[in-house]
Amino acid sequence: MNNRNIFLIMLVLFSLLLCSCSEAKVEYGNILISGDIKENIDFNKLITSLETEDIEVNGEKVSAYDFENIVNLFDSVYHQNNIYLVALDGFSNKFSSNSISDTYLFYNEVNGWCYYSEKHPVNSKIKNIKKIIVANDTDEINYEFGFNIIKNDETIHYDISELLLNKSSIYFHLDGVTKKDNNELGVMKKKEIIAFNDLDLDDIKFLLMSSEGNHEYLKSDKGYLVIDGSKVNYIDKKNSKVINDVKGVMENYPAISIMDVYSDSLYYIEKDIPVMILFIDGISYFQYKTILKKYPDLVISNIDNVKKATSVFKPVTNAGYAAMITGKTPIENGILNRDYRKLLVPSIFDSTANALLIEGNIKILDLSVETILNLDKNENGYTDDEIFESAIKEMDKRDNISLFLVHFHGFDDNGHKYGATDSKTIDYIKTIDKYVEELSSGWNGKIIMTADHGMHDLLDKGTHGEFRAEDLFVPYVIFDGGLYE
Ligand SMILES: [Zn+2]
Ligand SMILES: [Zn+2]
Repeated sequence: MNNRNIFLIMLVLFSLLLCSCSEAKVEYGNILISGDIKENIDFNKLITSLETEDIEVNGEKVSAYDFENIVNLFDSVYHQNNIYLVALDGFSNKFSSNSISDTYLFYNEVNGWCYYSEKHPVNSKIKNIKKIIVANDTDEINYEFGFNIIKNDETIHYDISELLLNKSSIYFHLDGVTKKDNNELGVMKKKEIIAFNDLDLDDIKFLLMSSEGNHEYLKSDKGYLVIDGSKVNYIDKKNSKVINDVKGVMENYPAISIMDVYSDSLYYIEKDIPVMILFIDGISYFQYKTILKKYPDLVISNIDNVKKATSVFKPVTNAGYAAMITGKTPIENGILNRDYRKLLVPSIFDSTANALLIEGNIKILDLSVETILNLDKNENGYTDDEIFESAIKEMDKRDNISLFLVHFHGFDDNGHKYGATDSKTIDYIKTIDKYVEELSSGWNGKIIMTADHGMHDLLDKGTHGEFRAEDLFVPYVIFDGGLYE
């Protein structure tokens, strides 16, 4: 590097230093914003986008921020909220979000952040505000935010505000040890936590899932939850493990998961027994139960030993599919949701010669396996009939397929269109059943039938992708093909 370049770099560094000095503003104390909000909010950043107004407090002019303007900048989960202002001493005020117009927050060197309102009683004027909690004031439930517990096939939902206001406790934990001569001093810090004992959990063991694709079997006495703004994190008691943005826990979780497709397939393939995977997109365990009752004579209603299996979070096609064919959790295989296509680990197709995949009109994941795509040629709204015909054709043509994955999409499509429990969705199984009957009777090997995720009702439609029983439980069964002895 020559002298001129060094000089230029020095100049840039020096001007950066100057900039950061001149941009330094008055240091306000921070307020932690938490509760039923969609994203974590930095209060100090947020107020820089707002104008101040001059108001008079006890005869003195102060520059203040309109409280309603501040609250309007929160991306809250629900349309109607209560807003809690929590002071350093724990004192707290609760306001309806529609009663805070013409009220103010201002900063004072001595008292920190203060609230000022002329229309509320005088004791509303609290000082040293440290926290704002946004709390759902509607009857709605949004499973995407907060924390969920699945027990006995039901999903219990907790909003973050509910965890903070009703379920949290303060405990002291050892933050560090200092030493002088031979005397040790333990430095304790207060920490606000949610103990599993304070939640609706009966079982000590549970399965925990996070938005980052963790799928962990844990014990409740080994850890606790902490709130970080809009997120819930799990912390191991020894602080050795932190799992961010946890979505919920499952009590009495099923013994099997859709990840078992990987090891179950390889188990038979290694014994030279061909495996067909009948992948029925978006059929939940509960829909399967309905089918059993409504159509007890169908082929799929008469397969023995259909088990309840767990999908993975996020219960959407890419993530569920990747978990099935890799045997790994989303955090391990890299497919967290619909935005991901490239596997970080090998799939069953990589270790199997003569594998064949029969798909709909698009490839879902980037896989190197031979794939036959199928368009809706007859434009009946489904690719399943074309997928079925392709599968039969290939089965007849080739006699050496060792791993054959057939992915049907119509059940999921109908679930989205009509709803999970609608009879039009449930009745579509009669079409799938005929395909299952013909494919399985002509297959010389084992068959694994399962789904990537389930489905729940949303108004008059259906959807999936949340931490709830309907989305996370799917049927799973292994049975013999008709030609297999
Ligand atoms: Zn799907
Ligand atoms: Zn879907």
